[in-house]
Amino acid sequence: MLKEQLMEVEAKIQAACDRSGRDRSEVTLIAVSKTKPLPVLKEAYELGVRVFGENKVQELDEKHGLLPDDIHWHMIGHLQTNKVKYIIDKVDLIHSVDTLKLAETIEKEAAKRNITARVLIEVNVAEEESKFGLKVEEVIPFVEKIATFPHLRVCGLMTIAPFVENPEENRPIFANLHKLSVDIGMKNIDNVNVSILSMGMTNDYEVAIEEGATMVRVGTGIFGARNYAV
Ligand SMILES: *Cc1c(COP(=O)(O)O)cnc(C)c1O
Repeated sequence: MLKEQLMEVEAKIQAACDRSGRDRSEVTLIAVSKTKPLPVLKEAYELGVRVFGENKVQELDEKHGLLPDDIHWHMIGHLQTNKVKYIIDKVDLIHSVDTLKLAETIEKEAAKRNITARVLIEVNVAEEESKFGLKVEEVIPFVEKIATFPHLRVCGLMTIAPFVENPEENRPIFANLHKLSVDIGMKNIDNVNVSILSMGMTNDYEVAIEEGATMVRVGTGIFGARNYAV
């Protein structure tokens, strides 16, 4: 089952790349494994998956300790400042920086370990009340502020689009995030290279790729529905 679902997602990513004249190598598939038990992740690993996304610090920490070292872990969920220290040296990329306090904490914890933390800025493009993230107009001043942090590197932008029936409805959201990344790029801010666009989930990753996504975060499409009751 997992193998077939993974192959189907792969085929759809390839097709979206073909439609938009992009190379498959421009898009990283993040297998969102939150709530899924270790054996399921191991099975995905056996099938060649090396990039996993988790949204809870404790779960990421545990899974990181029990699975092979060549896995790239991505923190895709909301991150509380007091938990930064548990994952800072375990993740390739933090997708969800949305406050100055969080950026400062990441800088401080990265400095302690003498590492450079790679981060994305989470943008609430759709301005949904329930979602985290900066408003579009807040992003450039924010990036200019944290660009000076020596142990933090801004690598791009992330958004969680609304849940919609028809993924086409999210196309303008993805196009807006892409435009914002171009606008930031034109500012030539020192130490900032917004080449990563993390956008698109199971419901809308094909449209996101057509609009320039370089990372898609796919959970359900690979692993099936999540059961939050257990
Ligand atoms: C859960 C989650 C995903 C994956 O969602 P699916 O619809 O299952 O693909 C992607 N991004 C974030 C931030 C998530 O929390």
